[in-house]
Amino acid sequence: MDFALTVEQERFRQEIRDFLAEEMVDGSTTEDGWIVGYSREFSQKLGARGWIGLTWPKKYGGQERSYLDRLVLTEELLRAGAPVAAHWLGDRQVGPALLAYGSEEQKAEILPRVTNGEVVFCLGMSEPGAGSDLASLRTKAVEEGDAFSLSGQKIWTSFAHVADYAYLVARTDKDAPKHKGISEFLIDMKTPGITVRPLVDITGEHHFNEVFFDSVRVEKKWLIGEKNRGWYQIASQLDYERSGIERLLSNYPLYRETVRYAQEHGLSNNPLVRNQLAQMQIELTMGRFLIYRVAWLLSHGQVPNYEAAMAKCFCTEVEQRIAQTVSSLLGAYAVLLPGSPAARLAGRVARTYLYAPAYTIQGGTSNVLRNIMAIRGLGLQAG
Ligand SMILES: Cc1cc2nc3c(=O)[nH]c(=O)nc-3n(C[C@H](O)[C@H](O)[C@H](O)COP(=O)(O)OP(=O)(O)OC[C@H]3O[C@@H](n4cnc5c(N)ncnc54)[C@H](O)[C@@H]3O)c2cc1C
Repeated sequence: MDFALTVEQERFRQEIRDFLAEEMVDGSTTEDGWIVGYSREFSQKLGARGWIGLTWPKKYGGQERSYLDRLVLTEELLRAGAPVAAHWLGDRQVGPALLAYGSEEQKAEILPRVTNGEVVFCLGMSEPGAGSDLASLRTKAVEEGDAFSLSGQKIWTSFAHVADYAYLVARTDKDAPKHKGISEFLIDMKTPGITVRPLVDITGEHHFNEVFFDSVRVEKKWLIGEKNRGWYQIASQLDYERSGIERLLSNYPLYRETVRYAQEHGLSNNPLVRNQLAQMQIELTMGRFLIYRVAWLLSHGQVPNYEAAMAKCFCTEVEQRIAQTVSSLLGAYAVLLPGSPAARLAGRVARTYLYAPAYTIQGGTSNVLRNIMAIRGLGLQAG
């Protein structure tokens, strides 16, 4: 089996590295750059290079390049800890959803603004009482003339406080079986009736929110795809959401710093430390192959499903083990000896340790992904 990329892809990788070496000044690296590294300015620089919507048709601002090219790009951005959060959801998920199900008007109006890095999205899926079991959602959209009136509550909505649009799911038929009465909408976050309240996570960061909708008017032209078919549309979007390299490299910059620290300060001569670092490197390599497999399937016109679940499940658990390894290698030094060389990493180590439980929850919990692997991958049925 040949895992090598093409000469053009390696050249592209180098071009990205050169760009990042110029752009990423000291201190701008961040763990979880796709979640908390919010910079519209940086996203617009990527947009100017054509690096948002890389696989999309040229007529909507894309470059018509392959999913493997996109993976090379996202891999380099995340390895460097670049601040890519402002365009991440639009590029990864909302754009592909509009390409698959959106009207011509929706595509023409929204997609070029995504590829320019102009617009920020939030995803209004989860609700109190509807997380893993998303089809239990209760936010409702009722038809009133040429519009829908939308009321309900979303929770854990990342970026809602800065987003221009919400990509949202709501119930449009209360009498249908729960998977059959759901539709998708794109909603301007400046519409009257929307209230965003911050939720601060355990690290002290504010990136997600509660969002309340009180009779919000949504013109019918912003219904995405077919009314009441939203559930089937969401399923393929979740595969995009789950299978990117952001599920492996969220805390990679800190891992790399830890390896460097271990080498510079003699820790890596200790066989136990060597063993831990080698184990991490092996797991990172395995995770990378799982994610490259998904991109390869997409590049060949196939829809990854249990493969995406496998990649997310394995890779986010690797991210958690990285957080633990980094903390066990540097934690005591950093906490006990504030003047020690490890102290410069202390804040990042503590933050990563605290944030790590989120990796296996956001975008679908590992339990739910194991169900998908069992049912769709192995063909098992619940007894
Ligand atoms: C950092 C972060 C960012 C997020 N951002 C967003 C966002 O932008 N937009 C958005 O809509 N949502 C967002 N979420 C929400 C996320 O999608 C949900 O938290 C997730 O789907 C789980 O839902 P829940 O929290 O309601 O847990 P529950 O579904 O209540 O699950 C509780 C526990 O039960 C287990 N469980 C549930 N069902 C099953 C089952 N069938 N089989 C086995 N075990 C099961 C779960 O694995 C879990 O351990 C975010 C979450 C986090 C942590």
